[in-house]
Amino acid sequence: MHKKPPVKKDCSAKGCYKYALALSEHCWGHLPDKNEYRTALIKAIDSGQDLSGENLEKVDLSGAHIEKALLSRVNLSQANLSGTRLFDSKLENADLIGADLTDSDLSHCDMHGSDLTKATLVRARLWNTDLMGSNLTEADLSGADLWSAKLYNARLWHTTFAGAKSLAKKNFSKGSGSLSKTVMINESGILSAEEAYRDLKGYFILNGMYNDASWAAFREKAMERKIFLKRGDLNYIPSLIMNLLCGYGEKPYRIIISAFGAICLFAALYAALGSVQNASSPDYLMKWSDYLYYSTITFTTVGYGDFIPKPGTLYRLLAATEAFMGIYVMGLFIFTLSRKYSGR
Ligand SMILES: [Zn+2]
Repeated sequence: MHKKPPVKKDCSAKGCYKYALALSEHCWGHLPDKNEYRTALIKAIDSGQDLSGENLEKVDLSGAHIEKALLSRVNLSQANLSGTRLFDSKLENADLIGADLTDSDLSHCDMHGSDLTKATLVRARLWNTDLMGSNLTEADLSGADLWSAKLYNARLWHTTFAGAKSLAKKNFSKGSGSLSKTVMINESGILSAEEAYRDLKGYFILNGMYNDASWAAFREKAMERKIFLKRGDLNYIPSLIMNLLCGYGEKPYRIIISAFGAICLFAALYAALGSVQNASSPDYLMKWSDYLYYSTITFTTVGYGDFIPKPGTLYRLLAATEAFMGIYVMGLFIFTLSRKYSGR
């Protein structure tokens, strides 16, 4: 069912090296009657003509009602589509570079993989629009309504979302269900992805969406870590530790796991070195549970004194280290919790 790509003809005007438009012998600039062409084009789209892969560069379809248009892979770069009603149209992999889509209705359109670089989408309606894998570099989506729009793997950089409606983390998830975990923008360019996540974080904070901001902040830090790695920057190591320890302060449950891990690790160390004794009866035979208990009491810096380190610098140093770690990790835990749940 694959339609052959249309043969591109050159514009018939003398000395013009542009391609002729679909249904015409001329490029947009050399069209003898632009209004006539516009009427013919709208009529063709309305009658269901498949214009996949055709050249429609710079055409003016502003204000037209062309629902369910078949415009896959079409070249609509720099086209004027302001106020155009394109509801439920096929526009996947279309070239929309620099197109003017101000106030257009793109609801339910399939626009995955389309190139919207520098396109103007001010106040555009994008309900349920599939923009997966599209390029939104320097696109202006101010005041656009993105209710249920799919933006998974979209390329964002200097993309303006000021005053955009219904933009949330879930716009960037792969599937529609809550079970799907993959939530991301296109991260192939890590530098631009880091910047894009920072912009999204700013948008979410401004709109009081702290959970979504937490996701963007975490991804931003993950991009930073990748940049460190790529550059061979030693900051990679603290970044990696902060990620594992607490997810850059965005994932409090990781701290609980880390704390539990540290307590077990120290308990094993104490047992291996035999570095603990019962304070009241030094001949008491230490059990595994006693080591775990001692480690917990040390980590939380409670120190009841029923079990104590044996005299010896190493034993005391080990206990002091665990206590110090405990204070640090618990401080981090409280910081992370309050940051995540009380508006950063
Ligand atoms: Zn021409």
